[in-house]
Amino acid sequence: MGAILQENGFSPAEQIDEADIIIINTCSVREKPQNKVTSLLGRLKNMKILKPQLKVGVAGCVAQQMENDLLKGNVRADFVIGTDNIDSLGDIIDPVMRGERICQTSISKDGLSIPVFKRVGSPSSFTTIMKGCDNFCSYCIVPYVRGREKSRSSDEILDEIKFLVDSGVKEITLLGQNVNSYGKNLEEIIDFPQLLYRINDVEGLGRLRFITSHPKDFSYSLMEAMRDLDKVCEYLHLPLQSGSDRILKAMNRKYSYGEYREKVQMAKEMIPELALSSDFIVGFPDESDEDYEDTLNALKEIEYETIFAFNYSVRPGTSAEKFEDSVSKEIKSKRLSRLLDIQRGIMAKLSDAYVGKTVEVMVEGSGKRDEKQFSGRNRQNKVVNFDSDKQYKPGDFVKVKVKEAKPNSLYGVSED
Ligand code: SAH
Ligand code: SF4
Repeated sequence: MGAILQENGFSPAEQIDEADIIIINTCSVREKPQNKVTSLLGRLKNMKILKPQLKVGVAGCVAQQMENDLLKGNVRADFVIGTDNIDSLGDIIDPVMRGERICQTSISKDGLSIPVFKRVGSPSSFTTIMKGCDNFCSYCIVPYVRGREKSRSSDEILDEIKFLVDSGVKEITLLGQNVNSYGKNLEEIIDFPQLLYRINDVEGLGRLRFITSHPKDFSYSLMEAMRDLDKVCEYLHLPLQSGSDRILKAMNRKYSYGEYREKVQMAKEMIPELALSSDFIVGFPDESDEDYEDTLNALKEIEYETIFAFNYSVRPGTSAEKFEDSVSKEIKSKRLSRLLDIQRGIMAKLSDAYVGKTVEVMVEGSGKRDEKQFSGRNRQNKVVNFDSDKQYKPGDFVKVKVKEAKPNSLYGVSED
């Protein structure tokens, strides 16, 4: 959206109160981010009173979900851009500036094509390889607000990655709700591991990551690709959601904990140094103490480097909306904080295991006060701060000897 606005003669404002257009790009996967949108719109309404020419737009999943309602009543955005309508921004911006109020939220049934555009300043960049989701997990709004699964052609993806690498990007993260179903609806015959093989050949690219893999489709051929391709990092986000088979069934996740554990064990054997991460939902309808204990046991058994855990919230239109949201807010919060406490211990143990080892860090920035301090991430996506007498710039790869494990990062010194 930034690139489209720049093509139309706009430039980024330094401060929010200098802006002529403000677009809130939204997420509706949980109730909390959605509520934030409403409160931000309230604050912007006050800004519009002081500056009537200011135009406020809402994009993303909340836009797709609320559509015209965002133009009405108390909220009163000036324009709404759905999840499949980013391209239309260039066409609507003039009428919007002239005072028209526009809502564009149609979801296209055609294939997925995204123009290649320039990103600013980071050695690390995202590339969308697919959009939408056909899995219909019972709690999840994504299939409703982002439509059916659509993949981008491999040529278009490769063109974008080559363009980004030519402009200085060293690390690419491929994006999709379930990258393992990449290619299903394309005319060309290609699957996700094959796409990884093609991207791995791009000269000048240093690292390749991807999110998210659905456990039910996490395949042996993907494990092989991760083992064999030098640029694919030893990091796998494989959201378990719950350790209880009863809850997994009610979530419509289509795997049991046993099946999940078996795949993870195989992946750990095939890919040395593999770091895992996961999402968890606590307090799903009817989650008993025993179900919750199953989740804690899974957490301890798998040993994730990172987790993202959330209290369950009801999402409109999903099949779980019909289930009673039976776990109280207090119990959800208690369960969440105990889970996060246990995870802190696991993370500390895994971080300690890096001490004394040499890791490859891609530099992302340098210390603001000390020119000899740098910061970046290792291949397992862990933040590493290090000291060096040499000068490095973002995108450089440096061998760092880890000296200390801190709560959220590692500290070390460069070996080069
Ligand atoms: N496609 C990814 C997840 C995308 S949504 C996958 O299948 O793993 C990101 C995360 O939000 C989910 O993994 C889930 O943990 C969380 N989430 C989704 N719906 C939720 C809800 N109704 N309440 C709480 N958390 C939810
Ligand atoms: Fe939502 Fe499930 Fe699709 Fe992930 S796989 S986006 S959780 S429906």
